[in-house]
Amino acid sequence: MKIYKNDAHLKHQSRLELVPGKFIPTLDVRERTGAILETLQRAGGAQVIDCAPATMQDLLCIHSQDYLDFLSTAWKEWSMAFSPELDGVGFVWPHRNRPARCPVAIEGRIAYYMFDGVSTITPDMWSATLGAAGAALQAASDLKYFGTRGLVLARPPGHHASKDMGGGTSYTNHTALAAQTLTAGGARVAILDIDAHHGNGAQDIFWARDDVLTVSIHTDPAVDYPYFSGYADEIGEGSGEGFNLNIPVPPGTRWPDYSQALAAAVEKLRGFAPDYLVVALGADAHVDDPAGRIHLQTEDFRLIGREIAALEIPHMFLLEGGYGLDVIGECVRNVVAPGN
Ligand SMILES: [Zn+2]
Repeated sequence: MKIYKNDAHLKHQSRLELVPGKFIPTLDVRERTGAILETLQRAGGAQVIDCAPATMQDLLCIHSQDYLDFLSTAWKEWSMAFSPELDGVGFVWPHRNRPARCPVAIEGRIAYYMFDGVSTITPDMWSATLGAAGAALQAASDLKYFGTRGLVLARPPGHHASKDMGGGTSYTNHTALAAQTLTAGGARVAILDIDAHHGNGAQDIFWARDDVLTVSIHTDPAVDYPYFSGYADEIGEGSGEGFNLNIPVPPGTRWPDYSQALAAAVEKLRGFAPDYLVVALGADAHVDDPAGRIHLQTEDFRLIGREIAALEIPHMFLLEGGYGLDVIGECVRNVVAPGN
């Protein structure tokens, strides 16, 4: 299998993230991709491809110019206004009962564009996210023009980034960029997001589109991150109505119930009959993951992989969440190579 990566992310590391009740060391550590790569290389057959970074121009097909301008200059502005010893993070978020308004102060703009306290502005987050986006672009291009089935070792994750907002340690949306790339020439594309948290970014980006189906299985947002999206009644609108499927499951869900959610996803995917499938491969639905609350076992990921393979749709995988360094390698390997 081809493994697409860009090592710019190795410099990127948030210092702290804000979770309920405390600041903790960030879960999106640089060692995540190495742990997965080591497992895949041990299994044999892994061909690693170092990819060029994406450009801002490449990202304009899914993100707004003002958001990308913000991301590209946010660290410089933050470090000058405050301190290069501190990561940039908001502390007052937009109010629900007021029209959206973007402040001038950098700490206000960070809160305007980054919807949580998890996604800090760091010196290297912009180059890291361009690197991951570049790997996604190349993998999508290779799938489209050469039929290559690959895995993008993207870091930071991207599936929480919408058109003009970041969150969940996501800055730009690599899965959406791959899907958008695959739509060239009128192709129909589906995204299956199996990360433990709602893929709110792709939902937002493709909300009113009928050429990209977005399907996400995740913990019920009524009781888990990202809280404000991922509900079953979010189905898209306009020509996109019926082309977004959210399948929330309760915390603690194990394979017997998860398999039913997956069957519903598979049925939707078969009905859409896409030309291509992009799998947003979060491995944080594992029982031992420090961020996820779904209780899958390592071998359950093999069953997910078999279901995806049985669809017989040309597809690619892209790493999203998954923070248990002892288990993510096996989980990812079981999805991408379920027969091994
Ligand atoms: Zn997640």
